[in-house]
Amino acid sequence: MSRILVIEDELPLQRALTDNFTFERYEVIVAGDGETGCRLALEKKPDVVILDLMLPRMSGYEVCRKLRAAGVSTPILMLTARGEEADRVVGLDLGADDYVTKPFSLRELSARVRALLRRSAPLRTLPDSLRLNGIDIDFRAYQATRDGAPLELTRKEYHLLRLLVSRAPEAVTRDELLNQVWGEDTHVTERTVDTHVANLRAKIERDSRQPRRLLTVHGVGYRWAAESS
Ligand code: CA
Repeated sequence: MSRILVIEDELPLQRALTDNFTFERYEVIVAGDGETGCRLALEKKPDVVILDLMLPRMSGYEVCRKLRAAGVSTPILMLTARGEEADRVVGLDLGADDYVTKPFSLRELSARVRALLRRSAPLRTLPDSLRLNGIDIDFRAYQATRDGAPLELTRKEYHLLRLLVSRAPEAVTRDELLNQVWGEDTHVTERTVDTHVANLRAKIERDSRQPRRLLTVHGVGYRWAAESS
């Protein structure tokens, strides 16, 4: 169960967020001012923080800045009012991961929270190894064999495969694969992902034209099928 910290001083909104995320099976912690929110973020180690910008005692900016300065890398989603464009930019500069403008729909907010959790989750759940059809892959040592003979994979192929396996059976978008595997490298496009997937298939699938494991999700990206269908 993911733990979510809601830092919001408007009581009706505080209640709506608590109900919504409790219903969605999160453990919800609530703070009504910036100072308390900051303390709870440090003490309770939530998986994600929803942070209102205008708060008593300590502003959302200040909370964000303090948490990042303290080395807290928890995803932070900021709530801003309409027309606070400049504020949003400052918020992102200070280390917020995303923002939602009030008034927002709870559905949209939930979707954003899930996206933030997904982005931070692979760090905790990456597999160390993979074994299938005579192929043995050690993701940490960057070593792979097929029927005992060395199988050459590039570093990017290791990273790509490890991420897809960690998220199986969920699909991972090309965009996210780019962000996670290539990071800040701006000389790559979504075609780059496709090329690497094609190479990877040629190495690990029995028939790369009819992949059973590394599957294409049309219009989205790719997914790993742990059990071939
Ligand atoms: Ca407020």
